[in-house]
Amino acid sequence: MDLKSLIRDIPDFPKSGILFRDITTLLRDPQGLRYTIDLFTQKILDAGLKADYVIGMESRGFMFGTPLAYQLGAGFIPVRKPGKLPAAVHSIEYELEYGKDCLEVHQDALHPQSRVLIVDDLIATGGTAGATAKLVEKIGCELVGFGFIIELRDLQGRKNLPDVPIVSLVEY
Ligand code: IMP
Repeated sequence: MDLKSLIRDIPDFPKSGILFRDITTLLRDPQGLRYTIDLFTQKILDAGLKADYVIGMESRGFMFGTPLAYQLGAGFIPVRKPGKLPAAVHSIEYELEYGKDCLEVHQDALHPQSRVLIVDDLIATGGTAGATAKLVEKIGCELVGFGFIIELRDLQGRKNLPDVPIVSLVEY
């Protein structure tokens, strides 16, 4: 199946000059959704990645991370923007092109020695995934790898990630 044909390109979103890769068209396609999650699972298994938990970043990381965790027999843990998680959190600040952002995870969700796989819909600069990696490493978890549906190769996001296996399904 040609996954690119299910991903819609939206020019000038969220601002002028950005070509946004929209995965809502892939999610709404019944065969496309099943194929994507099955292929994602297979590639993670082929890469030998064994995780106790899949961590997904708000909000599109939830959409792919949760079904992947289900398939792998792992748990799912959300990483969210500040103020969204109800219990005590660990936080990490990271740099954006202009300014800073912050991500949070529940303190009691992860433990040192937990084996963790970080999942998002897309890697661009790697800032979001890199910050999440720092968060789980700060807690003392074992980061086993990363999984993305889409990788924007030109932005070289891999350079901002630690040296663990990285799986992606579609490259632009
Ligand atoms: P990065 O931090 O620069 O790697 O950007 C990745 C984050 O921004 C991910 O959480 C993505 O969901 C989001 N993102 C950036 N560009 C796009 C896009 O074209 N389509 C969908 N999500 C995007």
